[in-house]
Amino acid sequence: MSTSTGSSNPETLADYVASQDVLVKEAAEALPHQFSQCTYPLGHLRQAVYLCLACPEARGICSACSIACHTDHEQIELFPKRNFRCDCPTESIAHACSLHATLERSNESNEYGQNFQALFCRCKRPYDAASEKETMIQCLACEDWFHESCCNLRERPNSEYVPPENQDQDPNGDAASDASNELPPALIGPGDYDAFVCGNCVLQMPLLQKYAGTRGCLIVTRDKPSCPWKVFQDLYVDLIELQEVSESSTRAAGQKRALSPTAIVSDNTVKRPRLSPVLTPYTVECSAPTSNSTIQKIFVDLASMTDPSFALSTGDIFLSEGFRERWCQCPSCLLELEAHPYLSKEEETYEPPEDPDSALSLEELGMRALSRLPRERAIDGIQAFNAMRDHLVQYLRPFAQEGKVVNEADVRNFFDRLSEEKRASREYQVD
Ligand SMILES: [Zn+2]
Ligand SMILES: [Zn+2]
Ligand SMILES: [Zn+2]
Ligand SMILES: [Zn+2]
Ligand SMILES: [Zn+2]
Ligand SMILES: [Zn+2]
Repeated sequence: MSTSTGSSNPETLADYVASQDVLVKEAAEALPHQFSQCTYPLGHLRQAVYLCLACPEARGICSACSIACHTDHEQIELFPKRNFRCDCPTESIAHACSLHATLERSNESNEYGQNFQALFCRCKRPYDAASEKETMIQCLACEDWFHESCCNLRERPNSEYVPPENQDQDPNGDAASDASNELPPALIGPGDYDAFVCGNCVLQMPLLQKYAGTRGCLIVTRDKPSCPWKVFQDLYVDLIELQEVSESSTRAAGQKRALSPTAIVSDNTVKRPRLSPVLTPYTVECSAPTSNSTIQKIFVDLASMTDPSFALSTGDIFLSEGFRERWCQCPSCLLELEAHPYLSKEEETYEPPEDPDSALSLEELGMRALSRLPRERAIDGIQAFNAMRDHLVQYLRPFAQEGKVVNEADVRNFFDRLSEEKRASREYQVD
């Protein structure tokens, strides 16, 4: 497949570009949104944030700025970050903002964690979309991203670690390694939980530690460092369940309790029973579960642990659907919930306004799609890449000027014409 890498054959670029129509299609699907306004004037919002890798400053920009101001800069999408204000038009980024004319002061309250160094997870690895085989999970609290394997949901996929003795094997063995790249199912699959909170964040939230290991709040543990990881299961019946039993005595016996957490996670097709909310706004007594002693010890150990490779858990928790309605509402729990509003109220994420007159947006989006091409695979080098992008802009400009909507066929036509031109020029050109 990729044997033509490094060739200077001009057709190679056209072929490669034509294969990128998925990206262009993706861009066209984003068409209804308007990307002509920086979100800076809107203040601090939960919004999709981008990191520009070409600009030296480790600062975040809004999606409109990522398209309009840093068009030909390589970027990575960091997905939503709460309480974030665009730093493109501020003093903290030297590259000028083309959407917001006034130079603003730096946003001091933006939180710039390791994601803005292009590092993710507790393993602090960079993210490479081309080689990353694992799903990454975003922490509800700190909004960092975690590898499933770093949460002990599965082994690290083979593809990422090639033992030294295998490193010099023939590079055409792709088929064999593809087969081994099939990931085993995760201990807790994406369908088994609604939200994830990383161990570091759970350590700072005593309320979450109380719920850890109860139904609807899964935690992965092991009995000893030499034992395999498993979903923690306790015979302990928490108060939620007790209440359910008493409330549902008229219901068919065992209907809700037939499924243990293990049964749920070991078979993704089993519909998780919906836990009924415990709404006791006038109770003064705390109805949060009493921490299980094993789990309690895990968090005590984690807080003082220097070598995490001996830990019996990462402390990560996986909250099942409806978790926001299940917290205890006693004054002391409420106080803790108020400190972390996202635990009890789903947050809104800003979306750019709808734009019915979006021909120009496609020009922008088309460029965005093209700017996502991995640089190392821009086969004819940066010049050909830029020339092709200029062609596309030229091609799309009349659409924008006439306010015509560009459809997929138009974009395809561009790439077809491009390959034809390249083919023609190759016939004349003899190197
Ligand atoms: Zn912006
Ligand atoms: Zn930039
Ligand atoms: Zn900008
Ligand atoms: Zn990791
Ligand atoms: Zn976290
Ligand atoms: Zn309480």
